[in-house]
Amino acid sequence: MERINNAIGGREVASNSGRVAAVYNPATGEQSAELGLSSAAEVAEAIAVAKAAFPEWRDTPPLKRARMMFKFKELLTANADRIARAISKEHGKTHDDALGEVARGIEVVEYACGIPSLLKGEFARNVGPAIDSYSDRQPLGVVAGITPFNFPAMVPLWMYPISVACGNTFILKPSERDPSAVMVVYELFKEAGFPDGVLNVVHGDKEAVDVLLTHPDVKAVSFVGSTPIAEYVYSTGTAHGKRVQALGGAKNHMIVMPDADMDQAADALMGAGYGSAGERCMAVSVAVPIGEKTADKLVEKLIPRVQALKIGPATDSDAEMGPVVTEQHKRKVLGYIDQGEKEGAELLVDGRGFSLQGYENGYFVGGTLFDRVTKDMTIYKEEIFGPVLSVVRASGYEEALSLINDHEYGNGTAIFTRDGDAARAFADRIEVGMVGINVPIPVPVAYFSFGGWKRSLFGDHSIYGPEGVRFNTRLKTVTTRWPAGIKEGAVYTFPSMD
Ligand code: NAD
Repeated sequence: MERINNAIGGREVASNSGRVAAVYNPATGEQSAELGLSSAAEVAEAIAVAKAAFPEWRDTPPLKRARMMFKFKELLTANADRIARAISKEHGKTHDDALGEVARGIEVVEYACGIPSLLKGEFARNVGPAIDSYSDRQPLGVVAGITPFNFPAMVPLWMYPISVACGNTFILKPSERDPSAVMVVYELFKEAGFPDGVLNVVHGDKEAVDVLLTHPDVKAVSFVGSTPIAEYVYSTGTAHGKRVQALGGAKNHMIVMPDADMDQAADALMGAGYGSAGERCMAVSVAVPIGEKTADKLVEKLIPRVQALKIGPATDSDAEMGPVVTEQHKRKVLGYIDQGEKEGAELLVDGRGFSLQGYENGYFVGGTLFDRVTKDMTIYKEEIFGPVLSVVRASGYEEALSLINDHEYGNGTAIFTRDGDAARAFADRIEVGMVGINVPIPVPVAYFSFGGWKRSLFGDHSIYGPEGVRFNTRLKTVTTRWPAGIKEGAVYTFPSMD
């Protein structure tokens, strides 16, 4: 059985905590690897290594750091296929979907290649008599990242390329469910020439996370995962004096206006609702058609599409979606379908009985479609994170807007319409961080920043892009004067321009 170990100070280090987690291939249900779960002492050791590597790395010119980043980008591009295979084997998503994930991760590395410009500060001459001022952004020290299972390569790449480009050293704690892709990427990072200790990977669970949240030598924590854990990470990390950005769960709605092209809207809902088996924080899980006629037309288009979904393992190049990530998660998703039926939603396509020949032990769930879902139902309120789309019929645009604004999550949303005025008003008034106008999955490109509103993000900074640079640095402002500009005598009044 393959054993997956930590990478600390440039070396592979096996945990001797005695605690392990099994890693599975979700398409077959077979265990594929064993993961050592780090003890608190092992995580503390990784923090010490990252702290020791910081001073030299902080003082490395940004241009040199950028050159390593360029090399890293080249290696990622050359190895995209290998990384995608590592993702699919443990996550279950299709190969093309995994390649898309890698491509979006590489874009963040490309952005980080521009770090010499991104770190440039501001300068002003003569802010007072013979006094000049400049400000620049400096790294924080050791930064930690804690990541979810659903984008095992991309979400870590949202974090550490920018953080280390800014001059920080980094500890990454990946998801226990699909840790292999991180290790493939780590090897490429090493090959790119980054010094030992700049990036360290510790595997583990709550025990490891708690050390990262409380240790005085960790200065900031980036987290992406479910909302209850994001809230815990935010409150614990900030209570220990750290800067924290904690991105949480989602329930993304897509409004379909009566004037929308119904085929385009239905196709968009298919990709956004069922791609990656619905396990995306930007998945659309609620369709909101406006008016009964629109709803009837949309549902009529969706039913045959959901029934025809091609479901299979990542090795099947025709598959449009794969299994969900674990047996436990499969049971959870099936439980939500039972609950939706019990609470009175109309089950139009039922994915519960789905089975694939040759893969009977895989964690497959068939595409599921509910109609006439209402605000008070559990399947509407909670994030299911599976291939289950709910149709909530709204009588008018204002009702749809309130529905979204009243929801506890505010990650992504979309509107499908031909009406520019409606689209503009929607973008203005919707209380959601990422908005698509005829774009179902509006994940911002790498030179913008990613982040939701409400209980989808705890903290003040979105992730990657310019916000990523701000999160990973702190501002310093220096005021300078030289002896020729200094007047004789002590001054007891508060310094001013005169
Ligand atoms: P999760 O919250 O279970 O796990 C995320 C990380 O937290 C993992 O590294 C895990 O080891 C750690 N963790 C789990 N329980 C913990 C505990 N009790 N104490 C401390 N650490 C703990 O999330 P997941 O199931 O891996 O990922 C899916 C979730 O992530 C979904 O809710 C999804 O919406 C969300 N997500 C959000 C975004 C976003 O950008 N907002 C992006 C991707 C995923």
